[in-house]
Amino acid sequence: MKICRYGEGLIGLVDESAVRDVTPAFDDLLKGQYPFPRHDVVVAALAERGDLIREVAARAVPVPLDQVTLNVPVANPGKIVAAPVNYRRHLQEVRDQIELNHGNEAHMREIREIGLFLKATSSLTGPDGPVVIGRPDRRNDHEIELVVVIGRTCKNVSEADALAQVAGYTIGLDMTVRGPEDRSFRKSLDSYSVLGPWLVTADEIPDPSSLSLELTVNGETRQKAHTQDLVMSVPELIAYASSFYTLYPGDVLFTGTPEGVSEVKAGDLMRARIDAIGEISVRVA
Ligand code: MN
Repeated sequence: MKICRYGEGLIGLVDESAVRDVTPAFDDLLKGQYPFPRHDVVVAALAERGDLIREVAARAVPVPLDQVTLNVPVANPGKIVAAPVNYRRHLQEVRDQIELNHGNEAHMREIREIGLFLKATSSLTGPDGPVVIGRPDRRNDHEIELVVVIGRTCKNVSEADALAQVAGYTIGLDMTVRGPEDRSFRKSLDSYSVLGPWLVTADEIPDPSSLSLELTVNGETRQKAHTQDLVMSVPELIAYASSFYTLYPGDVLFTGTPEGVSEVKAGDLMRARIDAIGEISVRVA
């Protein structure tokens, strides 16, 4: 299933080029009482409500996708976990270019030495963007990434059990201000975490190491890679992350970007495409 969020707080099932309102399948979960849970209640319910979602969708009127505004597919991620330098050739380009590493040794080490990092949830924006350049005095880069959405509460999960914890996948742009500061600081500006266009449930992507991904800027290819080249695979990343913190339904995991990162400026149009998920077009403002 392709599950989106759209319009004024609606949840949709996407089929071909139409969306059907399936919000009623989640009605009982949407009247939360303070304090609200730390996890995303809709993502937590996805696995067990597949039949209900399809029943509700069968009664809904299809609305063409181009007539709706898509929102961030996960409304309330408790945290955004992200992998740095998780493609070999991207690590090499970071080591080779002073504009990328700023002489900071911590920017040039391997993922297993430096671990993962967190991005602020306030940096999230939907697939229609825009990405608003927050520091035009600096270089601002695009990073296309396969993004994992966690579906179950898990801690110390093994690599063998890791994919069973996944609710689904989406396309992510880990936008980045270049500079010497810590990653989480430079990657947490408002609108610097783009997610969309929807969450594709895990059953439709049995092997997340088999996806090609591509990002163009103004029609020109900048990043083109394949997830089989991830240094730490999706199961390894989930196991690694969960060895440090409990993962909750709705937690978002950016899996790292391949080589080809480059600068974007106001007015540019980024298109990001990943096999089996789809495509997003995001304007830079
Ligand atoms: Mn990244």
